Amino acid sequence: TPAIELRGISKAFGPVQANKGIDLMVPRGTIHGIIGENGAGKSTLMSILYGFYRPDAGEILIGGRPIVISDSQTAIRAGIGMVFQHFKLVQNFTVLENVILGAEDGRLLRPSLARARGELQRLAREYELQVDPDALIEELSVGHQQRVEILKALYRQADILILDEPTGVLTPAEADHLFRILRGLRDEGKTIILITHKLREIMQITDNVSVMRRGEMVASVKTSETSPAALAELMVGRKVLLRVD
Ligand code: ADP
Ligand code: MG
Ligand code: MG
Repeated sequence: TPAIELRGISKAFGPVQANKGIDLMVPRGTIHGIIGENGAGKSTLMSILYGFYRPDAGEILIGGRPIVISDSQTAIRAGIGMVFQHFKLVQNFTVLENVILGAEDGRLLRPSLARARGELQRLAREYELQVDPDALIEELSVGHQQRVEILKALYRQADILILDEPTGVLTPAEADHLFRILRGLRDEGKTIILITHKLREIMQITDNVSVMRRGEMVASVKTSETSPAALAELMVGRKVLLRVD
């Protein structure tokens, strides 16, 4: 059974068909890339999976079971963790407060602060996501704010971690560190969906890759069986000359 499967997901904003009949199957314990040019519909798909938008049509299955994701709490309960491009952290709250708060409804997910702190520190050690639990978010670098987002998802026991353009805000060294963490999570059975427009990252870290173009999912392939040139061609719908860098 795939960790997550989408069947015919569609979403329009007025005349703009942002997602058109998206099919996707992500096996458990894999890193799955979703690549597409700006405007291809990647973030819309991600928002649907977190209950920010209801799709106009289509079905979502988690662990083989159909689920209606009506809000972010439903997504969290279904085991979905999100790292957004623009973090959803409360700036003048501490790391610990952010991790234990339900970001959407301000509800405490667990009552005991001491236990929460212990759990946060355990996760930070285990996954090399060191960050001071008592630091205010506004005092942290963006790289460390991203660590808090990942810790928040792990604290909520996410099985499926979805990251939208996560390296855009990172230095190359931080990006390498993030990829080590993602591989570690994958190797212990978690499912990672990495949204990016960077071909190099797809080749570097993903097991499989799906290509979006103008709202459609135009291909899903094993990463080892494709090439940057082939992916670039799928992304834009015609042959392209790749700059080598
Ligand atoms: P990507 O993440 O691949 O860059 P998006 O999902 O952000 O793509 O956008 C896909 C298309 O949907 C774009 O044409 C974008 O302008 C449009 N779109 C996205 N969100 C909205 C919205 N809330 N209202 C209107 N149009 C939107
Ligand atoms: Mg965009
Ligand atoms: Mg986007």
